[in-house]
Amino acid sequence: MSVATSGAEVAAGSEPLAYRALAGILWPGVLGLCILSTALGMQAGHGPLVFVITYVCLALSLFVLERVMPWEREWLKNDGQMWPDFLHTFITKTFVYWFTLAAGALGIFDALRVGEGLWPHQLPLPLQVVLGLVISEFGFYWSHRLGHEFKPIWRFHAIHHSVRRLWFFNTGRFHVGDTLRAMCFGLPLMFAIGAPEVVFTWVSAITAFVGLLTHCNVDMRTRWLHRWFNTPAMHRWHHSKRLYEGDKNYGENLLLWDRLFGTWYDADYRASADIGIKEYMPRTYLAQLLAPLWWNRLQAKVASGAIDRSGGL
Ligand SMILES: [Zn+2]
Ligand SMILES: [Zn+2]
Repeated sequence: MSVATSGAEVAAGSEPLAYRALAGILWPGVLGLCILSTALGMQAGHGPLVFVITYVCLALSLFVLERVMPWEREWLKNDGQMWPDFLHTFITKTFVYWFTLAAGALGIFDALRVGEGLWPHQLPLPLQVVLGLVISEFGFYWSHRLGHEFKPIWRFHAIHHSVRRLWFFNTGRFHVGDTLRAMCFGLPLMFAIGAPEVVFTWVSAITAFVGLLTHCNVDMRTRWLHRWFNTPAMHRWHHSKRLYEGDKNYGENLLLWDRLFGTWYDADYRASADIGIKEYMPRTYLAQLLAPLWWNRLQAKVASGAIDRSGGL
């Protein structure tokens, strides 16, 4: 594939040069500013506070940018999923917080450090963070791929993919069980080889920023960066209904392992804005939370007409 710009980035209509230049600088520029702000905050001894402020500013900026330069205008329309999006995000993040505290108190993180001496502490911190991203990405990649290719796990991950539009607000729309799966695969490898806490902090912060950017409905173009990084354009393919596009680009931040394992995907046509899943997904939060527990029976009821397909997503 020799496209200079990802096919999923192609927008309709003619565009002034200034617009194209802005679209080309947004993704690396915004991510760079977020990283710089977090670094300055950490240097000043207010890392967590500055991270939260930066994250909120990023979310607000994306909200504005989605209206000023959307990739898909149809995705600006209300899909009736704001409450489920919010509740999945809030409850899952609360669960992650308590799960992490409990795991720390039980000594699980310390017990995982079986290869303590392997981490190269002598490297400059930025290189350690890059190493942390590459290693954690290996876990994220296989965990995510399993979520698509192993049906008992897909039923949990399907909640994230059931959205009919992408925007920054549904970044955190994950079933609690799905998040637990991602956590159990993503970070233990870094613990096992003794990565210091500051590397975990940086990997978590970058993952949070990239996650918001990845789901935003802003016309961002990345020229060659999407070959190695998970950009909005590359994640649009991942949300496609067509499996030859959707079962691709599993990386959380980097697409390095997708390239190595043959699941990196890009094409020279515009990605379809008609995204979602083939299966039925109920529209309310509680029903979505329970759906994986009776997935096969639920789908059978829809197929038999006992549940109206048009009432779901
Ligand atoms: Zn997925
Ligand atoms: Zn997604």
